[in-house]
Amino acid sequence: MSEQTQEAGSAQPWRVVVAGAGMAGVQTAVALREKGFTGSVLLVGAEPHQPYDRPPLSKAVLLGKSEGSAFDVDFEALGIELRLGCEVTGLRPGDRELDTEDGPVPYDVLVVATGAEPIRLPGAEGVPGVHLLRTLDDAERLRPVLARQHDIVVVGAGWIGAEFANARAARAGCAVTVVKAAERPLAGALPAEVAAPMADWYADAGAELRTHARVERVEPGAVLLDDGTRLPSGAVVVGIGARPATAWLSGSGVELGAHGEVVADEHLRTTAPDVYAVGDCASFPSGRYDDRLLVHHWDNALQGPRTVALNIVGRASGEPPAVYDPVPYFWSEQFGRFVQYAGHHAAADTTLWRGDPAGPAWTVCWLRDDRLVALLAVGRPRDLAQGRRLIESGTPMNPTLLADPARPLKAATA
Ligand SMILES: Cc1cc2nc3c(=O)[nH]c(=O)nc-3n(C[C@H](O)[C@H](O)[C@H](O)COP(=O)(O)OP(=O)(O)OC[C@H]3O[C@@H](n4cnc5c(N)ncnc54)[C@H](O)[C@@H]3O)c2cc1C
Repeated sequence: MSEQTQEAGSAQPWRVVVAGAGMAGVQTAVALREKGFTGSVLLVGAEPHQPYDRPPLSKAVLLGKSEGSAFDVDFEALGIELRLGCEVTGLRPGDRELDTEDGPVPYDVLVVATGAEPIRLPGAEGVPGVHLLRTLDDAERLRPVLARQHDIVVVGAGWIGAEFANARAARAGCAVTVVKAAERPLAGALPAEVAAPMADWYADAGAELRTHARVERVEPGAVLLDDGTRLPSGAVVVGIGARPATAWLSGSGVELGAHGEVVADEHLRTTAPDVYAVGDCASFPSGRYDDRLLVHHWDNALQGPRTVALNIVGRASGEPPAVYDPVPYFWSEQFGRFVQYAGHHAAADTTLWRGDPAGPAWTVCWLRDDRLVALLAVGRPRDLAQGRRLIESGTPMNPTLLADPARPLKAATA
C-alpha cells in the first residue's frame, strides 16, 4: 500500500484503478464514492467518448430519437479521474502495474471492467458495408445506413440483431432480411418452444427471417449463403454475439475461462492479488444456481460493481467480504414488445406457460422442485417484478395457480 495512505491516516487503499470505462467501470467508480472511499480513483477507457450507456444504441440512438447516451455522472465532483482514449495493453500483478498506450499505471487495487467485444464474421472484415453494433461510433455509422432505402441483411437473430431489424423494419419501404444459422431465433438463450412464437414477430414487423441459413461469404453488395442463395445487401449488420475483451490479460497470470472471461470468485476477486473483475468480462460462481455464470446484461454491470466497491472499502477495515449472487435480469425491446427475463434456467427445469404465446402478453416460468428459478415475461412487467422477488426468496409455488395468467404471480404460492 502506498505511502499516501498512511499519510492520510486512512486504512483505505490509496489508488484504485478501473480498466474499462463502460457501465461496470463507471458504476464501480461511483459506488466506491457512495460507499465512502476516500482514496484516488482512476478510470481508464479505450474509447475517446465521455462514458456512455449501451442499451440505447440499438434503440433510441439508432432511431435518431436521442443523440447520445452519456452517463449523467459528474466525475469531477466525485473526484474520479478519467483517462479516455487510452487502451490498456497488459497487467503485471507482481509490480502492481497496468500497461497502457500512455505508459505504465500503478495501482493498489485494480478492477477489470473491459466488457465484451462483438464476435466478427469470418471473412467479412474489411468488406465495405459490413457493420457491427457495440459502440457509439458503430451506432453513428449505422444511423445513415438505416435511413437509406436499400436492402439490409442482419446476420444473427439474437437480441440485438432483432432490435436492429425492428428499427429497420419500422421504416416504411425498407427491406430487412435476418439470417440465422440455427433453426430458430435466440437458439442459444431460449428453448425451442419459447423461441418459436418469437419467430412470427419478424414477419409481423415486415422483416424476413431465414433460419438454417449459414453465411458462406460476404462480398460487396451481397451475402452468399451455403445453399447457394445470393442476398443483395446494401449493408450487412453482424450481430452474432460478444466475447469478453480480455486479450490484454494474456500472460498476466489472471485466470481466464473457456470463453476468455476472467474467472472471478464469489467476491468478484480474480486469481491475482488485489485485482477484481466485473461486468461482461467476468464470470462468477452462483451459489443460488449452483453454476458459474457469465452474464452479458446491463443489470449485472450495475449490481456487480456495488459488491466490488463494498469489498474494496470493507477489506481495508477488515470486514468479511460480500458475496455476489444475484438473480440475473435483462430486458429487450423486440418488435414493439417489452421482453424481460429474470433468473437462470436449465434444460431439466419444468416449463410452465401463463397466457397464450400467440397473444400480445404472456409469461413463461421455469420451476425446480416447485420453486421459481427463472421467468420470461412478454409485455407483463408485473409478472417480472413479482417473479423476481419470488425467485430471490425461493418461495414454493403452486403450479396450477401459477398457470392462470389472471392471477397475480405473488398469489400463486403454495
Ligand atoms: C447495442 C447494445 C444494446 C444492448 N441492450 C441491452 C438491453 O436492452 N438490455 C440489457 O440488459 N443489456 C443490453 N446490452 C448489454 C449491456 O449494455 C452490457 O451488458 C453492458 O454494457 C456491460 O457493461 P460493461 O461495462 O461490463 O462492458 P462494456 O459496456 O463493454 O464496457 C467496457 C468498456 O471497456 C473498454 N475497453 C475494452 N477493452 C479495453 C482496454 N484494453 N483498455 C481500455 N478500455 C477497454 C471498452 O471500450 C468499453 O467502453 C446491450 C449491449 C449493446 C452493445
